Amino acid sequence: MAGMSTYSVRTYGDPVLKQVARDVDQIDGALARLVDDMVDTMYAAVGAGLAAPQVGVQKRLFVYDVGEGPEVMINPAIVETAGEWYHEEGCLSIPDLRLGIVRPMEVHIRGYDLDGGEVSIEADEFLGRVFQHEVDHLDGVLMVERLEDDMRKQALRVLRDRALGFDTTALESTLVSASSSDEREI
Ligand SMILES: [Zn+2]
Repeated sequence: MAGMSTYSVRTYGDPVLKQVARDVDQIDGALARLVDDMVDTMYAAVGAGLAAPQVGVQKRLFVYDVGEGPEVMINPAIVETAGEWYHEEGCLSIPDLRLGIVRPMEVHIRGYDLDGGEVSIEADEFLGRVFQHEVDHLDGVLMVERLEDDMRKQALRVLRDRALGFDTTALESTLVSASSSDEREI
């Protein structure tokens, strides 16, 4: 059994998180190794999803586990969405900040697995949320950018103040509804 190998998770302010990742053009042993290491990294960080740019790799793939074992999605595309859902999200790249964000409730995503087989999944609730959040990472979009203007300004202020070492507890409480979620970061 190969030893566990993890990456450090890139965090807010790292330019790699703002870049658009490139399509995977070859599914080979090196990619399988990357996926293994991303899964290890996701578990080490106690996350439920992790996109390649979050570990500094500019490739369009992400791993996830919402309680049914690790899965990978290569070159994913969300081909259809429906509904609307306000839900709190946490991002491994923006640690300890939950944001209430409105996104579609249901998504239909297509991509490829490590064998090159086509994958097509319709998901809602948390899994649907994970898919949208991770595809955003591949496009260089962080969850903060999915907030309405006023809330985005608040969230950016929290991140700025944190970087300066200020206590942001009061400000943070304005960013989520009263009901707190214990879902893992993605
Ligand atoms: Zn994230």
